[in-house]
Amino acid sequence: MKIAVLTSGGDSAGMNAVVRSVVKTGILKGCEMFVVREGYEGLVRGNADGQRVDPVAIHNLEHIIHKPSLIQSDPDKNLLHNLRFGDGDLLKDGTSEWVGGRTLKGRYIVRVGWDDVRGWFAEGGTLIGTARSKAFRTPEGRTAAAHNLIKEGIHALVICGGDGSLTGADIFRSEWPQLVTDLHSQGKITDEQREAHTHLRIVGLVGSIDNDMCMTDMTIGAPTALHRICEAIDNINSTAYSHSRAFVVEVMGRDCGWLALNAGIAGGADFIFIPERPPKKLPWEDEMCAEIHRHREVGKRKTIVIVAEGAHDAELNPIRAEYVKEVLTERLGLDTRVTTLGHTQRGGRPCAGDRILPTLQGVEAVEALLESTPETPSYMIGVHENKIIRAPLMEAVALTKAVGQAVRDKDFDKAMELRGAEFGEALDGFHATSSLYSESAKLPQEQRIRVGIIHMGAPAGGMNAATRAAVRYCLRQGHLPLAVHNGFRGLLDDSVDELTWLGVDAWMARGGSELGTNRALPSIDIGGIASKFQEFNFQAVLIIGGFEAFDALLLLEEGRKHYPAFHVPMAHLPATISNNVPMTEYSLGSDTSLNALVDACDAIKQSASASRDRVFVVETQGGKCGYIAAMGALAVGASIVYTPEDGINLDMLKRDVRFLKTRYALDVPGRSEGRLLIKSEAASSVYTTTFITKMLQEEGGALFDARSASLGHTLQGGIPSPMDRARGVRLSLKCMAFLEQHHAVLQKQPPHKSRHASGSSAAVITIQGSSVTMVPVRDMVEHADMGKRRGKVAWWSGIKELEEELVGRSQFIGLR
Ligand code: ATP
Repeated sequence: MKIAVLTSGGDSAGMNAVVRSVVKTGILKGCEMFVVREGYEGLVRGNADGQRVDPVAIHNLEHIIHKPSLIQSDPDKNLLHNLRFGDGDLLKDGTSEWVGGRTLKGRYIVRVGWDDVRGWFAEGGTLIGTARSKAFRTPEGRTAAAHNLIKEGIHALVICGGDGSLTGADIFRSEWPQLVTDLHSQGKITDEQREAHTHLRIVGLVGSIDNDMCMTDMTIGAPTALHRICEAIDNINSTAYSHSRAFVVEVMGRDCGWLALNAGIAGGADFIFIPERPPKKLPWEDEMCAEIHRHREVGKRKTIVIVAEGAHDAELNPIRAEYVKEVLTERLGLDTRVTTLGHTQRGGRPCAGDRILPTLQGVEAVEALLESTPETPSYMIGVHENKIIRAPLMEAVALTKAVGQAVRDKDFDKAMELRGAEFGEALDGFHATSSLYSESAKLPQEQRIRVGIIHMGAPAGGMNAATRAAVRYCLRQGHLPLAVHNGFRGLLDDSVDELTWLGVDAWMARGGSELGTNRALPSIDIGGIASKFQEFNFQAVLIIGGFEAFDALLLLEEGRKHYPAFHVPMAHLPATISNNVPMTEYSLGSDTSLNALVDACDAIKQSASASRDRVFVVETQGGKCGYIAAMGALAVGASIVYTPEDGINLDMLKRDVRFLKTRYALDVPGRSEGRLLIKSEAASSVYTTTFITKMLQEEGGALFDARSASLGHTLQGGIPSPMDRARGVRLSLKCMAFLEQHHAVLQKQPPHKSRHASGSSAAVITIQGSSVTMVPVRDMVEHADMGKRRGKVAWWSGIKELEEELVGRSQFIGLR
C-alpha cells in the first residue's frame, strides 16, 4: 500500500514525531511512504510534471529490507544516498533538497525513505510544513487533490491536525467515490486507476496545542505547550515574589481552557479564567478580588492570574488580561503586570510526552489504516490515561464542536460535561488547591480528621505538588494535615508538625522532597511506629513514595493484626522515577525523569553528531526496573537499549555490534550521526558501562568510536514537569477522597469496640490502561517481585520491542 502523511492547521510540537513514526511503521509493514508538504495545499498542488526522479535509480530502505541481496550485489555508490534520503528527494545531481531544507520546487507529494525522518522528533513544529488551504475547502480543490493522490498511486492518508483538518479529511473520504467517478468521466484517470482507487482510507491524529479535542485525554503538542507556559510562570513567580507583584498571564486557548487550567494547577496560580466555566457570579471582579484579597491577607506576596485567550464572563463578554490588570491595580492596589506568552507556547523542542505519545499513536494510525475497510468508520487516534485508543473521528469532532456550541448557548454545565470527567476533576483540583475557604465551608467537627503525610524512598518530581494538594484539601475540609519529616525514622523522632496553607504555597514547582525522605521501613520498630500513630492520633495516613512506600503500607496493613493504631485508612501514592510500583503504569516523577533524560540525551546526541561517528553509552538509574531506560530510548530514538529485565549476554552484544557496524556502514559518508545506547545501571553486573564502551571502541574500528555518560541523580530532575505536578494534584485528591470515605465507614462502627479497618482501606492508587483504581495493598502482593523490587509484569516491554523496530534493528542486522 502507498500511504501519505500530512500535517495541517496550526503547527504543534510532536507533529514530526508522528511523521517519523508513521513513515517508519509504514516501511516496516511493507508500505511505500510519502509525505505531503504544506498540508492540504500540497495535496491540491501535487507534483508538477517533469519533476519526477527516474525510478530505476532508486533503492530505498524498504527495497533493501525486502531484497537484502541488493546490499551485496549493488556496487552503485548512490545506494548510500538513496538509503539516506529516499527516492522522492533525489535531484538529478544526487543531492537532496529535502535535507538541505530548501523548497522542493513543484513537488508536494514526496516519497520518503527510512533515514529521511531520522531524529525528527527532537524538532519542534512540523518539518513537512503546514498550511490553511482555502482551495481544499472547494470541490475543485478536493478534485485536484484526489487526482494528485491517484497519480501517485496513494490509497491512504494519515492527517495530523486540529478538528478543522480532521473534518476536511472526513469530507474528502466521503466524497471520494464521486471524485473518482468525476475524474474518470473527465478522462483524467484510466479504468485501471479507477478500479485501484475505489476507496480512500484515512486516519486522523490530533495535533493541537490547546488539547481541545473530545474523546482523547491529550492532543499532540499540548504537553509541550504546557511545559513552555509553566517555565514562564516559574520564572515570573520569582520576580513576582521579590516585588510582591501581581502578574496576569495570557495563554492560548480560544475555545478550550485546558492550558490555562493546567497551568493554573501546575503553576500554583491564584485565579484562572477559562471559556468553559466562567466565574458564576456577576460582577466576576468581586469574586476575583475577594479571593486574591484573602490570599494577600494570610501573607501571600505574589499573585498569579491566568487568562485563556478565549475567556469570557457568564454573559460571554470577553475578559482581557489588560482589564484584569486594571481591576487588580485599582481595587486591590497591587503592582500588576501583564505577560502575554503568545507564540512562545507553540515552539521549541518537544517534551518527552510529545515524543512518546505521537510515536505510539503513529504506529496505531498505520495499523488502523491497514485494517480499515470501506465499511469501517474513519478513526481518530487518541489516548485515554495510558492507553492508545481509536475513536470514531466524526463523533469526536461533533462532540468538540458541541462544546463550543454549549459555551455559545451559555450552557456551561454542558460544556464541562462534554470536556470529560478529567477536565472537571482538574478544575475541582484547582479550586481545592488555590482557594482559601471560610470556616463555614468546612466539614462538621465529627467528620474532621488528622491526616499524617509521609514521603518515602528517593525524591521524585511531583511529590511536593501532591503534598501541597493534600494539605490544602485538608485545610479546606477542616482536617488537620500533619507532616512527618524524614519518613518513619522522623516519626520515631517525633519530627511531626502541622502544615499551613501559606507554608506549602511554593511547593508546586519544587523538586526533591520538602518533607525529607529515606528508605527506612516501619519494620525498624513497628511497635514504636504504632505508638507514634497513637500519640499523634493519626486518623488517616497518606504515604507518597516508591516501592518502599508500597512495602511500608504492606507492613502497616499486616501490623493491624497486633496494633489497633494501624486500623485507620491508609493510601499510597506512587512516586518514583523508576516507576517500579506493581500494577501501576505511572508513578509521580517518572515524567520529570524522562524529560531530564531527553534533555541530557539531546545534548549528548548533539555532541555525538558533531563528532559524526560516535556512539554514546548512556547509563540510567531505575533500580531493577528498565522502565526509564526503555521509555527514554523511545523518546530519544536510541539505537540500543539494555534493561535489567532482559539483562545483557554475549549474543546480544555481538548482535548489537553487528547492527551498529551495518548502520554506520550505510550512512552517507560525511553525514554519519551520533547514536545512543541506553543502559539501565542494573542491566548487568558483568557487562558494565565501561566494558560496553571499551568493547564498542574496539569493535567500531574505522566506522565508529564510543564514549559513555552516566546520568545518575540528574534523572531525578530539577524542577518537576507540569504533568507530574498536575497528576500529583489529581491523584492526591483522589487519595484524600478515599481516606475520607474509609474514615466515614470506620466512624459507623460502635465507638465502644476497637475499630476494625477492612483490607480495602489500605490501598495504592494505580493507573492501569485507561482507568485510575485504588487497589488494596494486599491484592498487589501477588503482582510484586519483592526481591527485585518491581512488578512481575513489565507492562512497557512492548515499548522496548517497538523502539527496536523503529530503529530497524532486526532489518539492519539481516543485511549483514
Ligand atoms: P487548529 O486547531 O490549529 O486551528 P485546524 O485543523 O482546526 O487546526 P483549520 O484552519 O480549521 O485548522 O483547518 C485546517 C485546514 O483543513 C483548512 O485550511 C482546510 O484546508 C481544511 N478544512 C478545514 N475544514 C474543512 C472543511 N469543512 N472542508 C474541507 N476542508 C476543511
